[in-house]
Amino acid sequence: MKAEKMGFNKMNVPCAACFFRMKTALARINTDDEIAEEVYRIIGGKPVDDIHVVHERKARYVDEKKCTGCGECAEKCPVLVSSEYNTGLAEEKAISRRYLQAVPSAFAIRKDGRSPCRAACPAEQRAQGYIAVISEKRFEDAYRTIVRENPFPSVCGRVCKHYCEEECTRGRVDEPVSIMKLKQFVSDWVYANNVTITEKNITFEEETGVKGIKPVAIIGSGPAGLAAARDLAQMGHRVTVFESLPFAGGMMRVGVPLFRLPWKRLDWDIENILDGNIELKTNTRIESIHKLFEEGFGAVFIATGAHKRKKLPIPGSDLPQVLIGTEMLRSIALSKEISLGKNVLVLGGGNVAMDVARTALREDAESVKIACLESREKLPADPWKVSSGEKEDITILPSKSFLEIVSTEGRLEGVRCIDIFSKDSMRTGARKSRKSKVQNAY
Ligand code: SF4
Ligand code: SF4
Repeated sequence: MKAEKMGFNKMNVPCAACFFRMKTALARINTDDEIAEEVYRIIGGKPVDDIHVVHERKARYVDEKKCTGCGECAEKCPVLVSSEYNTGLAEEKAISRRYLQAVPSAFAIRKDGRSPCRAACPAEQRAQGYIAVISEKRFEDAYRTIVRENPFPSVCGRVCKHYCEEECTRGRVDEPVSIMKLKQFVSDWVYANNVTITEKNITFEEETGVKGIKPVAIIGSGPAGLAAARDLAQMGHRVTVFESLPFAGGMMRVGVPLFRLPWKRLDWDIENILDGNIELKTNTRIESIHKLFEEGFGAVFIATGAHKRKKLPIPGSDLPQVLIGTEMLRSIALSKEISLGKNVLVLGGGNVAMDVARTALREDAESVKIACLESREKLPADPWKVSSGEKEDITILPSKSFLEIVSTEGRLEGVRCIDIFSKDSMRTGARKSRKSKVQNAY
């Protein structure tokens, strides 16, 4: 058994291969092709034909019917793991033949659970995969690795909330791996080098010759709509995406300021998604889903996004000068006329608030302040966005709650706020009273 585990005996001759091969081959009868078998224990042997093989079944992650065992994948694989069959004394590639005499000889991938970054990512991005490929300077391969799970590398490399980095194990040692910025780097490299990655998907009809499979309608061309279109097209479906705006992208187009996500980069991601199986119809508002079925679609996916937001439930929020952040960004993206005035106060401390404040500065505002519930240290916005905003002269008024938007004869005066004190500051007696005042932002 030990000799089998090590693969070779001391004379460097394959040992016991005939015996164990026969047994593992027998054990494979009626088992799933995509399962890798490993002999775990041998029981019996007396008489010699009364042998029971206890074998472990593991996912192979490689299509055994296609793998010829040539080993080219192992040459390219950038990940080294300790070799089980050398009792951890040597390393092998994460994709490898399980051991030299393995039957069949198809390769298998060894996985040690799910990485924390992948578990935290809404797109289930295998960040460790593309980062390992980047470390070998194989940027085009890294891009291909990213787009297997994430159709928007240029977008997510710039505007993702990157939950992955919050969970990154490396953060416990020093700082998390820059997963998002590495994604941006790779997408920028592919863009700069004009690498084409679109692969034409073939339809069910082309593949099987079966006629009459109905196409799918998708309403909305935001992240959900386009991601669904891509996945369906890769599965062989014909898809039509309907978009009411003149361009695709949804919230990525009208909810993110240009200085954070240039449109040409968004267009690049979208062009890489669209292929012969996907038809995009812009300037087309869908009023009736029943009509889509009557027109011959077999399924409809509604991916219209969440563009409508609620105003704060405080007096004065209905004044015409009070705008909702996402609607303001949308109006600017659609080149609609809006007047912000000279002084702008943004309520909220998240990433959208930062985007709105920085956009206001780029419009006609002269002074922009942000008032938010959280303390300066606990702002929900990304720290780099906060410091970028401060460098642009945006004033942050932390620890405020909003009571009322104050106006006189229709003219906006400001926002009445109440200071919020943390439990700690109350306990230490640093601040003993709360005071209410109008924050004169206008
Ligand atoms: S940056 Fe965003 S999309 Fe990319 S791995 Fe992290 S959470 Fe996922
Ligand atoms: S170190 Fe960070 S980026 Fe790498 S696999 Fe672990 S969680 Fe993911």
